[in-house]
Amino acid sequence: MSESRAHKSPPSLRLRVTAAAESIVRSGHPWLFAESIREQNRAGEPGELAVIYDRNDKFLAIGLYDPESPIRVRILHTGKPETLNREWWSARLAQAIARRKDLFDGQTTSYRWINGESDGWPGLVLDRYDTTLVLKLYTVAWLPRLNQTVELIEQQLKPERLVLRLSRNIQSVARAKFDQSDGVILRGKPLSEPVIFLETGLNFEADVLRGQKTGFFLDQRENRRRAETLAAGGNVLNAFSFSGGFSLYAARGGARSVTDLDISAHPLKSARKNFELNQSHPAIGACRHEQVQADAFEWLAQTANPKFDLVILDPPSLARRESERAGAIRAYGKLAASGIANLSPGGILVACSCSAHVTTEEFFGAVRTAANESGRKYKEMQTTAHAPDHPAAFPEAHYLKAIFLQC
Ligand code: SAH
Repeated sequence: MSESRAHKSPPSLRLRVTAAAESIVRSGHPWLFAESIREQNRAGEPGELAVIYDRNDKFLAIGLYDPESPIRVRILHTGKPETLNREWWSARLAQAIARRKDLFDGQTTSYRWINGESDGWPGLVLDRYDTTLVLKLYTVAWLPRLNQTVELIEQQLKPERLVLRLSRNIQSVARAKFDQSDGVILRGKPLSEPVIFLETGLNFEADVLRGQKTGFFLDQRENRRRAETLAAGGNVLNAFSFSGGFSLYAARGGARSVTDLDISAHPLKSARKNFELNQSHPAIGACRHEQVQADAFEWLAQTANPKFDLVILDPPSLARRESERAGAIRAYGKLAASGIANLSPGGILVACSCSAHVTTEEFFGAVRTAANESGRKYKEMQTTAHAPDHPAAFPEAHYLKAIFLQC
C-alpha cells in the first residue's frame, strides 16, 4: 500500500436522522440526541465534524460528534454547506466578543465571553476574571480541538492566563483519552491564590481552579444589582450565599445587616474575604456582617421569625434530571413559604431557580402559590432572567429565573 493511501483520511462522517429530529434541527435547536440518528456511515470519534443530511439527501447541518454523550451531535451550522476552516472559527469567536462590546465598563472585569450553544460554541463556556480567562468544557468533543481553540482565544483576547475546567461527567474520559484534567493552567503563570476581579466596582475573589461553575456565578449579576436597590436600611438574609455575591451588593446598597446562610464552610470563608476586600466602601464598612453555617431548608423552616426586610433564596439546581422535576417544584414552594415567614411585614422576597428542568411558569407558579397561602397581602415587583452576557438561544438555555415579591 502506498504512503498516501495508508494515510488517507476516513470518509467524512455522515448521518441521517429521524423526521422529528430533522425539523428540530431545522428550527435551530442545537442538540441531536443519539436516538434520533437513523443511519451513520461509520463510527465517529469525539470532536469529529458530523454532516447531517435530510430525507432528500440534502445537506441539513454540521456539528461536533460526541460518542460519549446522549447529545450525540452539537450543531455548529445549518443552512448551506460550509467549510469550517480557521477563518470560520475566528469569525465565530469575533462575533461572541462583539456581542459584549458595549455591555461593560472598567468597573466590571468579570463576565462571560462565550455562552456555549447560544453563542454558537456548543458545550463550551469562556469566562473572564480580570486578566485570567477560564475555558469550561461540557463535552469531550472540544478536547481534540483544544490547541486550535486556545490559539484563537489567545489571538483575539490576549489573556495573561488561561485555565481549563471540565464538567464532572467528562473528567474521566478527558484524563484517559486526552490526558487533560480539571483545573490545569493551559497558558500563563501558576495560581497559588484565588483571582481578584471587579463586578460593578465591587472587589471579589474566585477560586477559578476548583470553584463551582468557573468560580463565580456571573449569571446573577443583574439580580444582585436589583437586590442592591432594595436593601437600604434593612436586615438582609442571603440564603445559599456562596461567596457573598448578593451580600456585598446589599451591603453597598445600605443594608443595616447582612446574614450569609450556606451549608459549607468554604464559601462562607470566601464571603468573609470578599467583605474584607471592600471594607473601604463606607456602606460596606458600616454594615453588620453575620454568617450562619446550616442547611438553609431546615434553618429557614425552624427559625421562622419575621425579622428580615429582604430575603434572597438562590439554591443550587434542585432538579438535575427530568425525574426530579415535580419534587423540585414542591421544594421551591416550601422554600418560598419559609422565606416569606422570615420576612418582616412589607419585606421583599427574591426567589431564584437555576433548574433547567423546571420551567419559568412552574417556578413562578410555585412561589406565587406560597405567597397566596402565606395569608399576607403581596405585590409582585418583577420577574427576571440571566444577565445579558448569558444570551439564551434555545429553550433549555433559559435556566435562570427570579421573582421579586413584596409581602
Ligand atoms: N447566590 C450565589 C450562588 C449560590 S450557589 C451567588 O450569587 O454567587 C449555591 C450555594 O448553595 C453554594 O454555595 C452551596 O454551598 C450552597 N448550598 C447547597 N445546598 C445547601 C443547603 N441545603 N443549605 C444551604 N446552602 C446550600
